[in-house]
Amino acid sequence: MTEYDLLILGRGAAAFSAAVRASEITSNEARIAMIGDGPIGGTCVNLGCVPSKYLIEASERVYAPEHQKMIGISKVKVEYNFPELMEGLRNYVSEARKSKYENVIASYPNVEVIDGTATLLGQKMVQVNNQINGSMQLSGANILIATGSSPSVPEIDGLKGAGFITSDTMWSLKKLPQSIVIIGSGAIGLELGQALMRLGSNVAVVEVMDSLLPQSEPEIGIILQKVLNREGMNFFLHSKVISVDIKNGKKTLKIVTKNGKEEIFADEILVAAGRTPNTSGLNLSAAGIKVDQRGGIITDRTMRTSAPGIYAAGDCVSKTMLLETLAAREGAIAAANMFGQEGEVDYGSTAWAVFTSPQVAGVGLTERGCTMKYGACSCRAFSLSNLTRATINRDEDGLIKVIAEPNTGKVVGIHVISPNAIDIIAEGAHAVRNGLTYRDIMETSHIFPSYSEAIKLAAQSFIRDISKMPCCVE
Ligand SMILES: Cc1cc2nc3c(=O)[nH]c(=O)nc-3n(C[C@H](O)[C@H](O)[C@H](O)COP(=O)(O)OP(=O)(O)OC[C@H]3O[C@@H](n4cnc5c(N)ncnc54)[C@H](O)[C@@H]3O)c2cc1C
Repeated sequence: MTEYDLLILGRGAAAFSAAVRASEITSNEARIAMIGDGPIGGTCVNLGCVPSKYLIEASERVYAPEHQKMIGISKVKVEYNFPELMEGLRNYVSEARKSKYENVIASYPNVEVIDGTATLLGQKMVQVNNQINGSMQLSGANILIATGSSPSVPEIDGLKGAGFITSDTMWSLKKLPQSIVIIGSGAIGLELGQALMRLGSNVAVVEVMDSLLPQSEPEIGIILQKVLNREGMNFFLHSKVISVDIKNGKKTLKIVTKNGKEEIFADEILVAAGRTPNTSGLNLSAAGIKVDQRGGIITDRTMRTSAPGIYAAGDCVSKTMLLETLAAREGAIAAANMFGQEGEVDYGSTAWAVFTSPQVAGVGLTERGCTMKYGACSCRAFSLSNLTRATINRDEDGLIKVIAEPNTGKVVGIHVISPNAIDIIAEGAHAVRNGLTYRDIMETSHIFPSYSEAIKLAAQSFIRDISKMPCCVE
């Protein structure tokens, strides 16, 4: 039997990050096997971050010229070819997989990539099943479970028979659906929904919750809903799909809304109702690994599971934020703790984002979270309608909210809806991680006129009435 210093189950972001960190720490001495049954690179490059951001960018380039907002510039309709656009997307994905994953791992002589599905046989043993090569058993001094997650498909009468797509399957679409119902209004549903809408689909979203993005500030969900609605997205909030059928060639969804039962029709259904950790086939009980009620592996912040020598990282872990960056950090921290260095994941300063237009991003506590933790909250929201960059660009839908600990002024959360929110939030993450106060932010120069300046203005509004300030007060 082959013995390894580290066996990694999975070969996505968490797995790669762990393999690289373990190799760095041991100067490529650690013998590592990375076992996976999907394409190399996992969800992010093949089915998630990369294709979705490609589609969003393409849709923006189709949409923006026809929705030009500056006076004196004509609105121009852009022609595009959906099958070619999708072909370009798939080609980009294969290039990214090759350059960022396949070639990278080939340059680590100590890392062996093994094709197959892995199951645990105990605390040090893994069985790998491969349809062509049969099965083999491997032993590892350390094991990292990094098997990711898959789209959850709710039990809805008739849904499977009628057919649907998910964020795993939509990348092979040959034709833009003229109309689409999206089940679920989380980040994936809203990002893909807006992209398809900007390319020309009629989009409706059915969501059981009564507001968008509950992880953010309520006013941010309201602004996003208003903007998407203005662009043409139809929302059925506080609503549930109870059955699906085909009538007159259309997928027909019976939904229960606040106002009673309704039927809605579409050419396609995108199920974006959350994700389930890929843990059910791993035989976790053989090693005594504890999971939550969704099957997410319970770890501490060092990424240790309840079984000695077994760590977990990425989307298969019990947590609320599913992010490529977080998966990679968890993988690296797990590897550090295995090979003699110490580390913990700082979930409180991990930034998240939703790549809609305007973008949404956040880090740390919300006003409600801060009030629950500290008994009170000191917070200020700054509207983009007061920001010179936003008024020049005529993109004034948005705000930045800074949440500070009431006694010290320490920034414990920042929540943004704005163009460039995905970049602005890096400053928020830095502030939260390093315990900066709103005065630290205020006293740091920001470029005028920029969107990032909004964070400084939100910080200034703790001590000044911003509406009475000229744009250049420092
Ligand atoms: C549409 C979409 C858009 C996204 N956009 C973003 C974004 O913009 N930014 C961001 O930060 N995050 C984004 N994410 C989230 C991000 O993709 C994930 O958080 C990240 O890829 C998780 O990495 P992972 O290593 O945990 O799992 P994965 O990358 O899923 O890797 C797990 C691998 O393990 C394999 N596997 C599973 N079971 C077994 C087994 N038993 N044996 C062997 N192999 C197995 C799987 O086949 C898979 O390849 C997005 C996700 C989706 C779906």
